Amino acid sequence: MPRIGSKEKIRRFLLANIGRVIDSREIQEAAGGAVQYSRRLRELREQDGWPILSHNDSTELKPGQYILKEIPKTKKGLVFSRNISAKLRAEVLDRNGFTCQMCGLTPGDIDPYTKRKVRLHIGHIQDKSLGGKDELSNLRTLCSTCNQGAKNITTEKPSAIWLLSQIRRAGQDEQREVFKWLNKKFTPDK
Ligand SMILES: [Zn+2]
Repeated sequence: MPRIGSKEKIRRFLLANIGRVIDSREIQEAAGGAVQYSRRLRELREQDGWPILSHNDSTELKPGQYILKEIPKTKKGLVFSRNISAKLRAEVLDRNGFTCQMCGLTPGDIDPYTKRKVRLHIGHIQDKSLGGKDELSNLRTLCSTCNQGAKNITTEKPSAIWLLSQIRRAGQDEQREVFKWLNKKFTPDK
């Protein structure tokens, strides 16, 4: 893997957590412990025009909290890794509903495997070593754990009958969570 700088790490972390309030500790951690993370955030806001809000912009945020509200309109030619452009990354994340395509977890969920907050990555469906290309049809959203191949989960999508059977045997609190999520997903914004 090519070495990536702290700004790039912050970029990736923010992109994987669009719409979620994140705190400075998480950003610093994502940047590999870089103490200059606040300068990097400012650069992203001022030079790259990323819509990152802080407590100065929103009363809902406390000092040290940030949120990237939406997919940034990136400058032409801005590249995240050698081959996958910001636009392509954003398209993959958007198409996959910001959800890990293997285990279904989303940013903000706690990964039961690592007990940590889920982070999303862009993974190749067919590995590059096997001739897989850096294009939309060969890319998918994966959480860190699935991206590392640590979870042994089938990639086939679950059927409605199977899902319903699982929901029926879950507790009421879990069923309510499912209801809330579905309700949010299928209710138009306005
Ligand atoms: Zn996953």
